[in-house]
Amino acid sequence: MTHYGQSLLGCGMIDDRHFEMEDYQGTIARWCPGCGDHSILTAMQRLLEEEQLKPENTVFVSGIGCSSRFPHYMKTYGFHGLHGRALPVATGIKLERPELHLFVAMGDGDCCSIGASHWLHATRYNMDMLAVLLDNNMYGLTKGQTSPTTPQKFPSNTQPSGTYLRALNPISATLGVTNASFVAQTAEWIPPHLFETLKVAYRHKGFSFVRILQRCPVYTASIFEEAVRDPDLIELLIHDDGVWVKDLDQIYGHTFYHDPRDLNTARALAEPSDRLRLGIFYRNEDVPVYEEIRRLPSYTADERVRTLNQELDRYAV
Ligand code: SF4
Repeated sequence: MTHYGQSLLGCGMIDDRHFEMEDYQGTIARWCPGCGDHSILTAMQRLLEEEQLKPENTVFVSGIGCSSRFPHYMKTYGFHGLHGRALPVATGIKLERPELHLFVAMGDGDCCSIGASHWLHATRYNMDMLAVLLDNNMYGLTKGQTSPTTPQKFPSNTQPSGTYLRALNPISATLGVTNASFVAQTAEWIPPHLFETLKVAYRHKGFSFVRILQRCPVYTASIFEEAVRDPDLIELLIHDDGVWVKDLDQIYGHTFYHDPRDLNTARALAEPSDRLRLGIFYRNEDVPVYEEIRRLPSYTADERVRTLNQELDRYAV
């Protein structure tokens, strides 16, 4: 439970509340047993506790899909929106209330299909928010249709003899967008890596895009099964400025020292390989954030109306 400091109790002027994890826990999650989303939810609640984010200053935005139930499970503000439209909603919130802590949860159908154009432009706008792609390689909520990240030949309800096309690569795609400033990949079945990645991503100023490989035991159980059982199939991208988890390399022996400022190497590392690469692919702290570039002078209400009318008068005929 939240603990209130003496000063707050005494005069109500100083806010020194301390938040515990349960202060961020919303309703009981209704994902299937064994769904990787549970692990991601826990990591996110842990992050908010570690950062001591005030729930009333924190917003989770989502679109439609299994993962898009995320805002219901957080005891913060939330917006469960339309399919593929989480990012434009988040953009609007950030423009109007740049001081809020903003999180966006999307699935692979939500982000990489119907919401793909918003994903591209949100990357380019580089507004300060943490966007997580919970990628289970399938439409889960609507019962197992091929999504853009479904592996080729993997059967689905819409392509039962096997998915026709090669899968879209969300890391490569994001790295190809002008103004990309933070791109990382992690896996929900490695909670310490997941948590550290989210923490580094949250602390980055700009649009932090984190693809989280997520198990769906109902529709894509076999896709990550081998990688979960065999640490040999994972390669950790490590760097002093990257994600570092004590002793994780004792389990995951394949590591690659990668400077996240090196975009060309990041793009090469994003290409498919024999191992799943986890860590920060790219980070650039110097990309301007849109909410600061276009910040308007602080007008009074009367000044806003007058300015708006002046603008409209320009189009009078
Ligand atoms: Fe999770 Fe898959 Fe169930 Fe959706 S269908 S809640 S992704 S396990």
